[in-house]
Amino acid sequence: MSSFQYKNETLHCENVSLKQIAEEVGTPFYVYSANGLRKRFREFDNAFEGMDRIVCYAVKACGNIGVLALLGSEGSGADIVSGGELHRALKAGMDKNKIVFAGVGKTEEEIKFGISSDILMFNAESRQEIDLINKCAGEMNATARIAIRVNPDVDAKTHPYISTGLKKNKFGIPVDKAKEDYIYASSLPNIEAVGIHCHIGSQLTEISPFRDAAAILVKLIKDLRKNGVNIKYLDLGGGLGITYHDEHAPSHKEYAEAIKEVIRDEDFTLVFEPGRNISGNAGALVTKVLYTKETEEKSFKIVDAAMNDLARPSLYNAYHEVQAVDSTEKMFTGDIVGPICESSDFLAKDRNMPNVKRGGLYAVMDTGAYGMTMASNYNSRPRVPEILVDGENYHIVRRRETYDDLTGPEGIPKYLRTK
Ligand SMILES: *Cc1c(COP(=O)(O)O)cnc(C)c1O
Repeated sequence: MSSFQYKNETLHCENVSLKQIAEEVGTPFYVYSANGLRKRFREFDNAFEGMDRIVCYAVKACGNIGVLALLGSEGSGADIVSGGELHRALKAGMDKNKIVFAGVGKTEEEIKFGISSDILMFNAESRQEIDLINKCAGEMNATARIAIRVNPDVDAKTHPYISTGLKKNKFGIPVDKAKEDYIYASSLPNIEAVGIHCHIGSQLTEISPFRDAAAILVKLIKDLRKNGVNIKYLDLGGGLGITYHDEHAPSHKEYAEAIKEVIRDEDFTLVFEPGRNISGNAGALVTKVLYTKETEEKSFKIVDAAMNDLARPSLYNAYHEVQAVDSTEKMFTGDIVGPICESSDFLAKDRNMPNVKRGGLYAVMDTGAYGMTMASNYNSRPRVPEILVDGENYHIVRRRETYDDLTGPEGIPKYLRTK
């Protein structure tokens, strides 16, 4: 059952009416279903029952510390890509032994933060980075565990902006170069090369690229072991897609079966980094219709949420289902647009949707991943609150920003001050 259902003609998240939240918190807001998150996490994790594994939720999909604390309590680790995300994961009480740190451009400060936090491993993406991790660990009298991010050169068959596993991408080390880098890393005094990592892209709706990548990595692990490099962790990254519209997203079972085909009885711990797959369908953005507008060409609903709140439609031309919070039979063909002065500021374009009148509410569905985390203050719009619903209750896990929040970190030079 979906986390979002109509009850008495009103859209609810679990047992809480979205209209009630809107009345009490105002619009727009993001809302996440705690049970939706738990269900997805458990399903993903259980698909690998009987195998040593760590599921590290990708914080960049939805980094709210309330959401992270909930997933952490389910046993989730964290896949992080910045010092800020490490701060979030630790603040949320997530287990440091289940934190993996990815990213092509880690700074010295971020590396030191990771070492002092004693995280599970860095997923290193270049020899220069390996050298820097070794130097930092040396200065700190520590040993840093690393995996090398290998680029298996497989086509993820997804949107080019979110495809990361091809030779032409900036990510990882080519698979045929990885062996010498492993041998090199193992020779360094403050590095322990414990893992191998890949992440080939996001929103994958085909299984075969995952299987192909896993097979390439397993082969490399065997080769490395023969050369005295003992790999303990095989990190297969994230990327498993979800259904937004009419795409067929593989089930957790299908995904696990494909991985098991190439893994069988190897003695290492599997690591996964799902982001979108855990939280995408568990969230919605609720927004109010401010005005309706008809031109000779087109009809518009102008709503109070915009591209700064949800970037995916303008950035990737992404499709998000739109539902009326008060159910209606009447339909409308046109665009749902925000107040920002850009023609790319749309949430839904050229669509046939429920017709919500001025003052009514729309829910933009499946926005629990890469929604709030990609939000900005463009046009000096305060960022919207995030609400976590759990059964009958809702919790404000991030309050609405105020105007003072916008200018808080800024300052006027003394000579320009008027008071
Ligand atoms: C973005 C990212 C993920 C998560 O991707 P999803 O498609 O949301 O599962 C996992 N690992 C790395 C290294 C990433 O960059």
